[in-house]
Amino acid sequence: MADRDNIPHAILLEGPSGIGKFAMARAFAQYIHCENRVNGDSCGRCPSCVQHQSFNHIDTHFVFPVVKKSSPKKSFSDDYIEEWREYLSENMYMDFQKWLLSLDNINAQPLIYVDESAELIRKLNYTSHLAKYKIVLLWLPEKMNEQCANKLLKLIEEPHDDTLFIMVSNNSREILPTIYSRTQRISMKRLSDDVIAQYLMLHYGVGDQDALALAHISDGNIVTAEKTVTLAEENQKFLDLFIRLMRLAYQRKIKDLKDWSVEVAGLGREQEMRFLEYSQRLIRENFIYNINEPQLMYLNQQEAQFSRNFARFITERNVIKLIEVMNNALTDISSNANGGIVMFDMAIKVILLLKS
Ligand SMILES: [Zn+2]
Repeated sequence: MADRDNIPHAILLEGPSGIGKFAMARAFAQYIHCENRVNGDSCGRCPSCVQHQSFNHIDTHFVFPVVKKSSPKKSFSDDYIEEWREYLSENMYMDFQKWLLSLDNINAQPLIYVDESAELIRKLNYTSHLAKYKIVLLWLPEKMNEQCANKLLKLIEEPHDDTLFIMVSNNSREILPTIYSRTQRISMKRLSDDVIAQYLMLHYGVGDQDALALAHISDGNIVTAEKTVTLAEENQKFLDLFIRLMRLAYQRKIKDLKDWSVEVAGLGREQEMRFLEYSQRLIRENFIYNINEPQLMYLNQQEAQFSRNFARFITERNVIKLIEVMNNALTDISSNANGGIVMFDMAIKVILLLKS
């Protein structure tokens, strides 16, 4: 389309999330603006490519869901442009949940508000600076509120010759039908397991068999695959710590338990808390293992292997107390108590409870 200079005024890339639609939209915009296209790709070196690569192209406007700032002022994307650029520089694959975290307000529901369309109209009315086309990259049109969509519709219905809208949607059924019907739709498919496995091997150093297994449960979604890898890594670390705690407590190795406590405290508050949640879960699962209810058990292979020998130590006499001790530690950590002291105190109590 760009090579024939026959680009529709409103394009919609639609398909499941985590497959690189927005990266594709950005690459397309860069290609349109590139001053020196080579073999169907942008050059990556001309001034406009350089601007695109730093998310700073003067004729490219980003529109994306934001939360209202607390003051009564108007709300639009440019309020968050710094957060947005930082987010884009770190995330090739867009994740709405992660964007929520950047907005520092995880309870809010980000939207594209009506002020956005007024601001956009104002910006587009500037004459184009350099490029033939001004491009609006709009992430998640399904998050537009109705007033905004109606105003924007006017822009799309009576386009300026030099303005292109490229929208990217994870859930195009929620886009206002009047907008949806005026776009040229391009549907993008989920990624194949092979592509995801390659990505995990390249970026996370996962072995090929594990990569395929993870890809298989990721539903063609890179973001899900990345989360699964991170979780799997953390899970492994927590299991190792848990096993050491139980062995050292069983052997009553006080000095080693002290070192262990310092090490766990070094993880920082958030991870310490997740570790304590993880430990409670393992205690519970081992009790279930012990009373032989395999259909109620949720252990991965390595956890199950450890539990084969360990489960017999978790009985009706100590299961509730162990969970209580860990839960108290969690409460202490969450209220900012010293991690090393809390963990050591917990380890001493585990010694006594394992023997009971
Ligand atoms: Zn270029």
